[in-house]
Amino acid sequence: MIIDDVPEGQYPVVVVGTGFGSLFFVHRQLQLQPAAKILMLERGPFRSWETQVSEGYNSPIRGRDTFKSTGVPKPWNFTIAYGGGTNCWGATTPRMHPNDLQLRTLYGRGQDWPIAYDELEPYYATAEQIMDISGPDDLHQISPRSQPYPQPPHRLSAADRVMKQAQPDMHFALPSARSRVATKQRPQCCASFDCEHCPIGAKFTAHNGFSHILESPNVLILMEADVMELERSSPSTVSGVRFRRHGREQRVGCDLCLLGANAIHSPAILLRSGFDHPLLGRGLNEQLGFTVEVLLDGLDNLDGSTISTGANYSLYDGPFRAERAATFIVFDNHFPFGLRKEFGRWRQTLSVRATMAEELDDKNGVSVDERGDAVVHHVGNSSYTERALDHFLEDLPKVLGPLPIEKIVPKGRRRSQSHVQGTLRMGAGPADSVIDSGQIHHQVRNLVVVGTSVLPTCPPVPPSLTAAALSLRAADLLFG
Ligand SMILES: Cc1cc2nc3c(=O)[nH]c(=O)nc-3n(C[C@H](O)[C@H](O)[C@H](O)COP(=O)(O)OP(=O)(O)OC[C@H]3O[C@@H](n4cnc5c(N)ncnc54)[C@H](O)[C@@H]3O)c2cc1C
Ligand code: SF4
Repeated sequence: MIIDDVPEGQYPVVVVGTGFGSLFFVHRQLQLQPAAKILMLERGPFRSWETQVSEGYNSPIRGRDTFKSTGVPKPWNFTIAYGGGTNCWGATTPRMHPNDLQLRTLYGRGQDWPIAYDELEPYYATAEQIMDISGPDDLHQISPRSQPYPQPPHRLSAADRVMKQAQPDMHFALPSARSRVATKQRPQCCASFDCEHCPIGAKFTAHNGFSHILESPNVLILMEADVMELERSSPSTVSGVRFRRHGREQRVGCDLCLLGANAIHSPAILLRSGFDHPLLGRGLNEQLGFTVEVLLDGLDNLDGSTISTGANYSLYDGPFRAERAATFIVFDNHFPFGLRKEFGRWRQTLSVRATMAEELDDKNGVSVDERGDAVVHHVGNSSYTERALDHFLEDLPKVLGPLPIEKIVPKGRRRSQSHVQGTLRMGAGPADSVIDSGQIHHQVRNLVVVGTSVLPTCPPVPPSLTAAALSLRAADLLFG
């Protein structure tokens, strides 16, 4: 329930942020402890979905205005509002490949996750149920699954169908939280291609998926509360949370603190609070994205049932990962470069997007300046990722071999993938990470970190389903 003000008392659980990481944790805690009293502090405003659609933007606070940048210029995108990234996201939801969690052991790169895929699998399944994800069950070959997808896969486009026929073990329908069939909360996706402000509410958001959290009298949600610092009563205990609201500084006490303010602002809050660790704020990353237009010869495309329909794993996993990054390939079902101009051939086009995993580089990261403002420093992509891009461009004609191709036109790098990750990584111990395998801070044992900041390596796939699954698991470990 949204509240107007909060008494300065003691709260059993204080949650910072209301995005993916926080909401999935709170959802699971409420299942296990229906009477739990939870206070959520959110920096942004509450914006109904109708307001977001009619005004054409998710939040009046632009993410890029909330931090400063140095180094190689690069956008880092996120939403500051109730629901965080559940508002703006495109709702693409593949799981990670099991080998993504063992990069060090298998390929000598990065670090292993402190948990195995099998441990995460049941939580993936639950997160998929909560978001009513549409996907193909034969994707089991890539990422094993214990349960079928809650919704059938989206209809493949003509280009996907040719690829699926020729490469049944490599080409699949792309899983997404864009409804294939209507549910009580969401109509069927109608492929109208403006997912950031889906005009019909077909994708999962905090608004349509977690309304019970908004309505719960036990969950107090205070909007426009900008958390500045966590206060500690001893080196191992957070005792309170300090925030600024409408020009006034306030404090609440907490027994447990859940930090889910995104991978730029969560580390900034800890740095302002005097937390110290060589990896705190380090390793900010996202995938490198590249787009290609494929002109098709005689194949009318763009007849899939949602904005992006195909996932190709040909360049995803193998011994090559010792030398260059994994690449995940998506077939779009829309036309960012326009339709063909030739008479009768307007649909003979395909947009292909590749995302190359990035290696965490401690030179990329978040710090705070003398005013306490977040400062992002970026040095550019690693050679590991650049090599993957070179190979992608070389290998693409072979990967797309089954298609009737007139021409492949590289369109260039995407400025951002809109995934912000890796600044409070999880790991086996304090030497390699900030938080443990249960997402509890190694030293401060009543501080839990959630969201994509905890990812210790960069998967080539989008991260939010994984962040959701991790939050469900963290809540289970604490309260189950
Ligand atoms: C345009 C776009 C498209 C995307 N598409 C996809 C996709 O298709 N698939 C996918 O997996 N991911 C996608 N993402 C990424 C996805 O949004 C993020 O991975 C996800 O939201 C991260 O979850 P989080 O909990 O770490 O942070 P968020 O969801 O961003 O939540 C952080 C919350 O903390 C709040 N906050 C920040 N600072 C403070 C503070 N000081 N005090 C209080 N509250 C604070 C924020 O307002 C926000 O509510 C997309 C992102 C964008 C921008
Ligand atoms: S493709 Fe269209 S209907 Fe489907 S989620 Fe995106 S905007 Fe909504």
